Formats: sequence, structure tokens, C-alpha cells
Amino acid sequence: MIPVAHAIQIVKEQTRALNSELVELTNALGRHLAEDVVADTDLPPFDRSQMDGYAVRANDVQAAAGTPAKLKIAGESAAGRGWRNELNAGEAVRIMTGAPVPVGADSVQQVELTRELDSGSEVEILEPVTLGRSIVKRGSEIKAGQTVLRAGERINAGAVAVLASFGYANVKVGRLPRVAVLATGGELVKVDQKPGCDQIRDSNNFSVSAYAALAGATIERLPLAGDDIAQLKRQIADAAERSDIIVTSGGVSVGRYDFTKTVLKELGAETFFARVALRPGKPMVFARLPNGTLVFGLPGNPVSVSVTFNLFARVAILKMQGAVETELEVGTAVLGKIVKPAKDRESYLPARLSTNENAQLVAEPLKWGGSSDFVGFVRATSLIIVPQASGALEAGTKVRIVHLPD
Ligand code: AMP
Ligand code: MG
Repeated sequence: MIPVAHAIQIVKEQTRALNSELVELTNALGRHLAEDVVADTDLPPFDRSQMDGYAVRANDVQAAAGTPAKLKIAGESAAGRGWRNELNAGEAVRIMTGAPVPVGADSVQQVELTRELDSGSEVEILEPVTLGRSIVKRGSEIKAGQTVLRAGERINAGAVAVLASFGYANVKVGRLPRVAVLATGGELVKVDQKPGCDQIRDSNNFSVSAYAALAGATIERLPLAGDDIAQLKRQIADAAERSDIIVTSGGVSVGRYDFTKTVLKELGAETFFARVALRPGKPMVFARLPNGTLVFGLPGNPVSVSVTFNLFARVAILKMQGAVETELEVGTAVLGKIVKPAKDRESYLPARLSTNENAQLVAEPLKWGGSSDFVGFVRATSLIIVPQASGALEAGTKVRIVHLPD
């Protein structure tokens, strides 16, 4: 049995990033950058007005408190259509939000604090303006040549805006891994069937597919496999030809009909670990087939599947995309209730998070019936990490948590 952290380390070491590909910006959301993003212009690219109003010289309107300063309107600067001349003393230029501030002006007074005179050729500035007011200087946000996003970062909606601003109509991203999902077990029937005597409906195929999709994978759901060596072997060998990763569930323990490990061995796979000091999810295989396809043999119990998938298989899916952040986000919280550790294993217990009146994050362990209770697990938003030990952890104890993806 190896510790969880060691197992995660092995997954990272054994997983290579796939090639990159060019995608259109509209398809880039959720992908991982395979290149640094560099600003090709200053932002803003010119001294820009932040307000609708009048570009002036602050000096000209100093006396405006009480007695409005009267200035000649020399022209107009609109967004996309700037005023190209130089503003002289005693002049103002009507200006709009997003328009360039003309040379010679040093401040913008907002339109609400001005009054244009009937003639349209003069404006009264009703209040003085501080030097530089409502002007965003060229390059004050970003300078051309600066790296704004790094390879390996996930492209969120904000990043899409950044890419658009710097002309990335196409962007280089990591290829998405193809993940084949295979649920095994002689007791399983498909979702649209009524389970007969001794049977249950398969749910792992769906939960694994859902979690894999959240991690960005392209999914292929394989037909259910019985506890049958020949069938399992055929399905895994066949799927390996077109998959970067195969995730199986069930059949990795020590039962008489647990064949996943046997099959992997017969297919010539290299096994990196087969037991992790983890509750739930102790039996769990990580291996590589001779053609390079990685295999995660998860246990059958649905909660173990969710935990082991997110701790291990998710890391590989993200690493293949070139992601820098591959592990679940870690945090700290205080326990809402007492929890019991396992003596020989680290526990990852389902929990919901809330904030108490002292502004502390509270992890409330969910009431659940163990690793088969996926109905109890459904409300979990995080997992409480309980180190292996013999004594219980009381309510209020500070604990580490990981956030589950949703
Ligand atoms: P196993 O790891 O094959 O020993 O299975 C452990 C438990 O998980 C058994 O109670 C199985 O019936 C259950 N199980 C296995 N596969 C699935 C699945 N695809 N969906 C729901 N439950 C499953
Ligand atoms: Mg089984």
C-alpha cells in the first residue's frame, strides 16, 4: 500500500502531455494554453478617456469653484474617431468614453459637471478638476511585449477576453485526451433496464464519464463488461487502440471474479501501483499498456470511484492537456462534526462547506453509509482529508480539504 501523495506523484511522473493543436478562439474555453500569451499592443493603446465630458487643461478650470470657467469648444473626440489637433489654453474638446485624449489636454471633466452654452461653441466647467482625472494613460494596464498568460493555464471566460484583445484569433492549446470508460461486473445492467434478481444498474460508467468530461476529456463509453477474462481482455485491447486513457471500474479487489489485474497482466501492462492507503478506494490499479495507453482500474463501489477518479485519473487527464494545475484545489476548514480516522489509511470523507459567524470555513461531514452510498455522496462538494491515526478528530479541529469539481 502506498500513500495517496506518493500515488499522485507516480501518476504525474508517468503521464506525458499530448501534442498541441490550434483552435479558434470561440472553441478555446476550458482548454489549456500550449503557448505563452504576449501583449501585442499597449493597453490602453492611447491615453483614453474614462468618462463622457470635456478634455481640458486642469489649470484653466482651477477657479471653477463658485465661478464656472468658460472655455472655447475646439472640437470633438469620439470613440474610434479622435481629434487630431493640439488643445490650447482656454480650450476644451468634447470627449466620449473610450476616445483618445487630445494632445495638450491633461484632464477630463465629466459631462454632469459642465454646461454647454446655447451657441454650442463654448462650455462652462462648473467645478475644478484634479490633474489627470478620468484619463487612463497609454500602457498603464499592460505594455506591449509583456507576457499576460502562461502556457499550462486554463482558459476561462476572462482569458478569452485577454486572448481576443491581443489578436489571438487562433490559440495553441493542449490536445484533449480520449478517455474510454468501461464498467465491469456480472451484476450490472444498463440504465434503461429493470434489474433482475441479484442485479443492479450500472452508475459508474456515467459518473466516470461525467467527471472525465469536467476534466476536459473526450469520452467513449464502452459496453458493460461481465466478470469474464476473455471479454474484458478484448474490450480493453480494442479500446486501447483509440484511447489515451482507459478508466475501468470494478473487479480490482481480491474477489474470485475480480479479473482486471489479471487481464492487464496478460496484456503485458506495466503496473505502477495496485493498492493505495486510502479510504475509500484502497484497491486501485494504475498501469500502462504496451502501446502507451494508461489504465486506471478503479474499484467498483460508486463513492470509491468518485474519490479515486478525482484524486488520480483526473490528474492524468489534465496533465495530458499540459495543465499546470492538475490536482484538486486544496483548502483548510474546521470540522463541523467529529470524524473517525482509519488506523492504516488516509481518509477522504465527503463533506459540504459553509461559513460560520466567525467567518470560518466549516466542513460538515455528510451522513453516509460508506463507499457504496452514492445517494449520500451526491451532496458532497469537497472531501475532508483525515490523516491515518487512532483518535477521533473533534468538531472545530482544523483540517485540510479538497474541492470536488462540479
Ligand atoms: P467490485 O469492486 O467489483 O468488487 O464491486 C464493489 C461493489 O461496487 C459491488 O457492490 C458492486 O456491485 C458495485 N459496483 C461495481 N460496479 C458498479 C457500477 N458500474 N455501478 C454501480 N455499482 C457498481
Ligand atoms: Mg465486481
